[in-house]
Amino acid sequence: RFDAARETEPGDAAQNARLPLDAGLNVRDVSFAYGDGTPVVSGITFGLPAGKVTALIGPSGSGKSTIADMLLGLLEPTDGSILVDGLEITAKNRRAWRDQVAYVPQDVFLLHNTIAANLRLAAPQAGDEELWAALRKAQAADFVERLDGRLETVVGDRGVRLSGGERQRIALARALLRKPSLLILDEATSALDWQNQSLIAQSIEELRGQMTILTIAHRPSMIAFADWVVAIEGGRMVEVGQYRRLKAKSGSRLARMLSGERA
Ligand code: ADP
Ligand code: MG
Repeated sequence: RFDAARETEPGDAAQNARLPLDAGLNVRDVSFAYGDGTPVVSGITFGLPAGKVTALIGPSGSGKSTIADMLLGLLEPTDGSILVDGLEITAKNRRAWRDQVAYVPQDVFLLHNTIAANLRLAAPQAGDEELWAALRKAQAADFVERLDGRLETVVGDRGVRLSGGERQRIALARALLRKPSLLILDEATSALDWQNQSLIAQSIEELRGQMTILTIAHRPSMIAFADWVVAIEGGRMVEVGQYRRLKAKSGSRLARMLSGERA
């Protein structure tokens, strides 16, 4: 569904118009080259169906984070376009789009401050109840409750040292407080043990249908909850399809990756 009226709204309204992501996001024939002009992403085309979980997989250096940065509106494709419900992300609406995307990286940045202050970076006006709701969705409420002072616990260097999994779950809660249309997790669980991985996976399961999710991984074992899979190698797309179908299809890239074979 694409509301053409949005496109024709004049002035500031058009610049601030939300790109609703009701139908889906389309990456259309996108290429990208950094400064030296060598393409690191070439002619990539795939969709992110609204409300579904799509996994982007590929070896280290294959261009996954570059694609994430383009979806985040931080990098502009050198060629091709990215469309949200059919409306291209352009210089005009890029800022509004950025507000609708939330990102959880592999290396989470937390301020040396309270958990509440860290969460309110994403939602300065949020009340404690809203913070707790986000923590619950991110499977983080339990360990925060166990900490002295709860939301007022200071984390970081001279405060409580959080484990990698705890940091990821705080970061996920913070991402959710932005009420994103699109949530991108870039290797967010790659450094975690299976228990923390499965806590994050559980959160993603529960978020399915509420927002569009892209999860990025270099290991296919971490994407068992995905609806769709996009596999890239050397900046080129090598496979796209439904997770279940590709997993069951002998000889598929995903099936080979899952069985540990080399492509
Ligand atoms: P992945 O996330 O799959 O590991 P990246 O998108 O980070 O891959 O990187 C893809 C390629 O682009 C790599 O060869 C990497 O060295 C290169 N690259 C990434 N960022 C930059 C940059 N800022 N300037 C130049 N080259 C970069
Ligand atoms: Mg990366």
